[in-house]
Amino acid sequence: MAFVVPAPEAPSLAVAGSTDRFPVRRIYCVGRNYADHAKEMGADPTREPPFFFMKPADAVVPDGADVPYPPGTSNLHHEVELVVAIGHRGRDVAPEAALNLVWGYAVGNDLTRRDLQTAAKGKGHPWEVGKGFDHSAPMGPLHPAATVGHPSKGAITIAVNGVEKQRGDLSDMIWSVPEIVSHLSKLFVLMPGDLIMTGTPAGVGPVVRGDTLVCDIQGLGTLTTRIV
Ligand code: MN
Repeated sequence: MAFVVPAPEAPSLAVAGSTDRFPVRRIYCVGRNYADHAKEMGADPTREPPFFFMKPADAVVPDGADVPYPPGTSNLHHEVELVVAIGHRGRDVAPEAALNLVWGYAVGNDLTRRDLQTAAKGKGHPWEVGKGFDHSAPMGPLHPAATVGHPSKGAITIAVNGVEKQRGDLSDMIWSVPEIVSHLSKLFVLMPGDLIMTGTPAGVGPVVRGDTLVCDIQGLGTLTTRIV
């Protein structure tokens, strides 16, 4: 058997303390999961059911790599987020059982072409051009839950050129990791290799070429990205 065009490389993430890799199947993202960020986006931070969007799997960017400033925007934003990595198949999972599906956690950055996302929202258009562009998902190495447990509290921050821009706590999430996994598993069959970006605290803002972004989540290390 031969492919008629070159087969794409399978995207994967580094695993902390190992040379093994985590294969990336899908990247799900949660919108507005911290009340203070929902407010800054002009939304009502009540506990409405979580909503989801996606990024392509090949949008992942490893720790330490450069991200080319994307085309079509003049307002690229950072969004530091906890990333959940799924290790077991699951559908219609109760919150009480949801953590059994989770393999590990990482620090991520949901890079956003905010001008395009805002325009799409205004017209009721899809979010892909604002959220799912090339290099839009920098992610640090994955930490196995077997090692770090299931973090439900701890500082989540990002600094741009050494100046802190976002600070929150994982305990501020409107929907917890078990609740997110449960909701998502009622909409999609979750499979090993799926990643979930769980939303960002307040303080999102623009980055430009030459900026160095350092995302940090307590217990999960840092993710450094340079915009070029
Ligand atoms: Mn986000």
